[in-house]
Amino acid sequence: MHYSEAMGHDEAPTIPPWDYSTRAVQSAIPRGLGQSIGFPVHAAAAFQFTSLEEAQQEFIQGGGLSYARLQNPTVRMLEERINSLEGADHTLAVASGQSATFTALMSVCRAGDHIVSAPTLFGGSVGLLQNVLPLMGIETTFTDGSPEGMRAAIQPNTRLLWAEMISNPSGDVADIELLAEIAHDAGILLAIDNTVGAAGYLIQPLAHGADMSVQSLTKWAGGHGSVMGGSVSVNATRELSANPMFTEGGEHSLLGLHGDRVLAVRQRWLGGSQLGMTLAPHSAFLLAQGLETVGVRLDRECVTAQTLAEWLSSHPKVSSVSYCGLPDHPSYETAQKYLPRGKGAIMTFDVPDPARFLEGLQLLRIAPNLGDTRTLVVHPWTTTHGRVPEARREAAGVRPGTIRMTVGLEDVQDLMADIDQAL
Ligand SMILES: *Cc1c(COP(=O)(O)O)cnc(C)c1O
Repeated sequence: MHYSEAMGHDEAPTIPPWDYSTRAVQSAIPRGLGQSIGFPVHAAAAFQFTSLEEAQQEFIQGGGLSYARLQNPTVRMLEERINSLEGADHTLAVASGQSATFTALMSVCRAGDHIVSAPTLFGGSVGLLQNVLPLMGIETTFTDGSPEGMRAAIQPNTRLLWAEMISNPSGDVADIELLAEIAHDAGILLAIDNTVGAAGYLIQPLAHGADMSVQSLTKWAGGHGSVMGGSVSVNATRELSANPMFTEGGEHSLLGLHGDRVLAVRQRWLGGSQLGMTLAPHSAFLLAQGLETVGVRLDRECVTAQTLAEWLSSHPKVSSVSYCGLPDHPSYETAQKYLPRGKGAIMTFDVPDPARFLEGLQLLRIAPNLGDTRTLVVHPWTTTHGRVPEARREAAGVRPGTIRMTVGLEDVQDLMADIDQAL
């Protein structure tokens, strides 16, 4: 349901043919007398009914506004905006990227099911797949990441392929159209973590065949390192008819009851209603505001990142630079194909003495976030990936000397000067 319907406005706020930059600032804001130009913050845990009949209707059919664990108008507006930017039919916004990933994984799997994953993942996603889902009887095979490797790992009980669009931190780019074909050939879904794809600005995975686009809104969407959130976006579902969880029970099955909305319904039920990983309305407001400038920030950050990556490649103290905009990166060709607007703002490079390098920095800050307005560096081996088994760290492109850098909006010469003096 559109926010406008939920709020009783007649005008639908979604405006698909406009360019990304236009949608980023204009989507999901209702028009009309007395409407605020930005997103109003509905600081409410519950919403009123005017009759018992209305209340009963809502509790039986759902979908409207009753209690804020399920739906809040400000969060709903953010979800509409993400639909518009990711090219999605339905989006669920939740409290963090981690809860979005958990919701996405659990929405199509139950005990006895299996997931096939790429190897180069955000540490928290490895944790969910390797340590949390097995508690519920869901196992994951980590592959070498190649399309052939992903295909070969599919079993009769596999329900999902999982990969990052641009992996954090190694910058591997998923050949998403090929992965979608492999998943759909096997009757299963392809879910893409599009966090580094920056809220659909660098790429819209759903337009290339993915069935789910998951992201940490904490990163580029929020963009200022000031708020946490995550989202799962889906299109009308495709291959759920081969998943018994959705078909058991005939006309009373999940698919029979909810039709092509089934995945969206299930995700809202899981992430919101049952698990309560609800996004706060003030966070939704900040995230919606961040989304208004995501394209402008990324344009600049991608240019700065490319300049820094090329400069670091020829720096005598740097032993290896991994950025998918460099011709020697294994994903260079794939990045050229899928990322015409820019190759993202994250890279890694190896230095001889990471502690000395990090402590010598005067401008760059040591912090684990991504997509901040400020350039941030971290030592993944001992921090973000510190709990990941060593072999999996290496597979994720994390070595003892590796520094991960997420490029912000500072002047590129200032960044170079600081990195150079610290090296
Ligand atoms: C940060 C991150 C997450 C988790 O998001 P949080 O908002 O920190 O919970 C998931 N995937 C990727 C690629 C990330 O960088």
